[in-house]
Amino acid sequence: MPDLRDFIAEFKGETYRVKKPVSPRFEAAAVIRRLEKRFIVYLEKVKGFSMPVVAGVCATRRRLFEALKIRGGTWEFYSRLTEALTNPSKCKVAGEGLVKEVSEKPDLSRLPVLTFYGRDGGPYLTASIIAARSLNGEVENVSIHRLMVLDRRRLAVRLVPRHLYRLWREAREKGKPLDVAISVGVHPAVLLAASSPAPFGTSEYDVANRLMGGKLKLVECEAVEAYAPAEAEIVLEGRILPDVEVDEGPFTDATGTYDLVRRQPVIEVLRVTHRRNPVYQTILPAGLEHRLLMGIGYEAKIWSSVRGVVPEVGGVNLTFGGCGWLHAVVSIGKQREGDGKNAVMAAFAGHPSLKHVVVVDLDIDVYNLEEVEWALATRFQGDRDLVVLREARGSSLDPSVSPRTGLTTKLGFDATRPLNLPEESFRKAEIPEAEKACRKILG
Ligand code: MN
Repeated sequence: MPDLRDFIAEFKGETYRVKKPVSPRFEAAAVIRRLEKRFIVYLEKVKGFSMPVVAGVCATRRRLFEALKIRGGTWEFYSRLTEALTNPSKCKVAGEGLVKEVSEKPDLSRLPVLTFYGRDGGPYLTASIIAARSLNGEVENVSIHRLMVLDRRRLAVRLVPRHLYRLWREAREKGKPLDVAISVGVHPAVLLAASSPAPFGTSEYDVANRLMGGKLKLVECEAVEAYAPAEAEIVLEGRILPDVEVDEGPFTDATGTYDLVRRQPVIEVLRVTHRRNPVYQTILPAGLEHRLLMGIGYEAKIWSSVRGVVPEVGGVNLTFGGCGWLHAVVSIGKQREGDGKNAVMAAFAGHPSLKHVVVVDLDIDVYNLEEVEWALATRFQGDRDLVVLREARGSSLDPSVSPRTGLTTKLGFDATRPLNLPEESFRKAEIPEAEKACRKILG
């Protein structure tokens, strides 16, 4: 079955192996931030630990496409993800798995958990996927949550009021803890599925399994009732306690700003299993990988939604500067006047946290923000092409949203060219045979 190690091995040429010892406090984060745009970052020696650290595995679109063996590019990626979300396929449960090679008493001080930013409340696990089942066993959920290390056996877990929160609350109402399997070091398809917009009731393991062509195998935990990928690097078996809350935070959110300190539940770790010589995986908060993983599933939703109202959609980009969450650029094949504005509304419907969206024609590359700005400069008129939605529900991540009301103003920029004016006045000027000339003259 494909796992994290196989995946990293495929990208030897773009893995940067740092051989010098690196401190887990800030130094590692600084190195990851410097390198993750171009490389998978492999820290061989983290001071005080025997385990290597890997980061940035899913920091580029191309690597995510490779993880799903996609050859056709973005369009194929969105349709594969959409298809997997609607047709998840049940994972097989294996009796044995590499993650069971070593089984030991919990000691979180042996994991090279990094401290990232200056005001972060402590060391945090950030690439940890948490799997849990409802008490009746009918619903399984798998999602990524930041975990703050409290001591050798306990973690504070940030539970936004979504699916895992709902399972925990249901258990708490009966006075019971919620069993969880926390996996660290998994194949990118599992990370992608765990951060995708699957509805409550769909197991993200099954979404991952569909994405992996039926190759994801799970194993049952030893100390708790939960399942983990059979070839994860490390699994922390634990339970979210019903009745303990601690201060969690501050911590750097996808926005790159500090999230506040909140009272959050505690996970007690009961057992740790891992592969021999495990690799610890992490994700730099607010980095490329974090924003890409958070956003790309919602790009697929925007893509589906916009395709419902205009005949042709080129690309969707939840931009890095927009935190992979708040700003989108969508390109469409405009056929009638008004298509751009309909696309704006569909984009907002596809991703309710979206704040600003720019709609452009197909000749604009949605990943090239200079081109997007050029389209705004040459095709957009504020009085005619701007859509303003006052007092809509905003993203809780956006620090400019009033925490009292949760309301925001959304803007849609229709930067498609008007169809009642001559096409040639909006066309990009081209230098004939430019590439060829440059090759000939500059080599
Ligand atoms: Mn879910």
